[in-house]
Amino acid sequence: MSEPSLNLSFELLEKGEVLPVMEEFYSLQGEGYHTGKAAYFIRIGGCDVGCYWCDVKESWNPDLHPLISVDEIVSRADAVPARAVVITGGEPLNHSMNYLCRKLKEKGIATFLETSGSQPLSGEWDWICLSPKIKFPPLQEIYNKASEIKVIIRDSSDFEWAEKNAIKCSSNCKLYLQPEWSSRKTAVPLIVEYISKHPEWQLSLQAH
Ligand code: SF4
Repeated sequence: MSEPSLNLSFELLEKGEVLPVMEEFYSLQGEGYHTGKAAYFIRIGGCDVGCYWCDVKESWNPDLHPLISVDEIVSRADAVPARAVVITGGEPLNHSMNYLCRKLKEKGIATFLETSGSQPLSGEWDWICLSPKIKFPPLQEIYNKASEIKVIIRDSSDFEWAEKNAIKCSSNCKLYLQPEWSSRKTAVPLIVEYISKHPEWQLSLQAH
């Protein structure tokens, strides 16, 4: 027979009332459309996409991160001056985001999602940043709702992948190319040249 407290935790996790949280911090957005704006960041544990260049591999296993009460997270987010929260990971959509978004909205806090788009959408979002990954491509429902796509570029072969993604997005979706961090010295000149010829794209440089 399983422990009652384990059953309760599982039930709360299913409802999204607790979430495995890797870290929370108040900072400036360092990538994409909202670069330079202050926000409260919540990094959710759990991702099965498996990008080999991932710089947060410690986020992959959700069991390594404590289950935190969403009500507590929201009260910390509500205590900072900025009225925006960025939910990142890991892959946040591995868990239900409905309760978290509802509670943030009740406080008048804008909700920004960073996702690979590999899982069905939950939650109510003011901004969705879709960063598609070739190993686990996004679902069409996420392309339809993406506010921006941010394609990671390591070499010139990634531009074809970027265009394949762009045609699946809505016409008002912002298009960003961002160098993969460890390849940035060679990738940035390639991106600059590409954007010169394809000005519908913009450069996103990690500022953090
Ligand atoms: Fe890492 Fe993001 Fe890829 Fe998941 S989707 S493996 S968190 S880079």
